[in-house]
Amino acid sequence: MSPLTHLFTSWVIAAKATDNPRDCRLVALAGILPDVDGLGLVLDILGPVLGGRQTHFYHQYHHYLLHGAFGAMAITLLLTLFARQRWRVAILVLLVFHLHLFCDFIGSRGPSPEDLWPIFYFGPFDKDPMWIWKDQWRLDGWQNKLVFLTVFVWSLKLSLARGDSVVGVFHRRADAVVVGVLRRWQKALGGRFRSEPPKT
Ligand SMILES: [Zn+2]
Repeated sequence: MSPLTHLFTSWVIAAKATDNPRDCRLVALAGILPDVDGLGLVLDILGPVLGGRQTHFYHQYHHYLLHGAFGAMAITLLLTLFARQRWRVAILVLLVFHLHLFCDFIGSRGPSPEDLWPIFYFGPFDKDPMWIWKDQWRLDGWQNKLVFLTVFVWSLKLSLARGDSVVGVFHRRADAVVVGVLRRWQKALGGRFRSEPPKT
């Protein structure tokens, strides 16, 4: 699935299952960190533009470097170092990480039916086992759009109730601004739809 869907999904879980902003941020990050192995795409694009040779890091390493047991251990160890409640965060990070793998397994196909993205659980050391689902949803398919819409609306609702949002994973002050805007919109919409008191 798209990194945005992963981010909103992991933030909703983090917001529900942690009791402080730091741990919430760490668990939310666990939902997107596996896709760091796709950042080779930037080098693949920039290399030839800047006069270098063409590389294929994206196809070599995306879904292979950090989308398995090695990635799970590395990301869990790294994030747990910064956690307040270490055991709770470790378990949540592992859960969110594996949810990421599951979501990729079911919904990360390219445009053609053959463009399937398997999961190599023992990558980057071994391509066996290779888990693949031939009915994998397209990355831009309606199923993925529906999942995104669901977690997006859910996260908006949570943000209004909690006073922080997914933006807080990256920047606290920007988060306060976003939540302020959301609350003003909520107030404005609430005012518009509020029924007029009966005239006497
Ligand atoms: Zn992924």
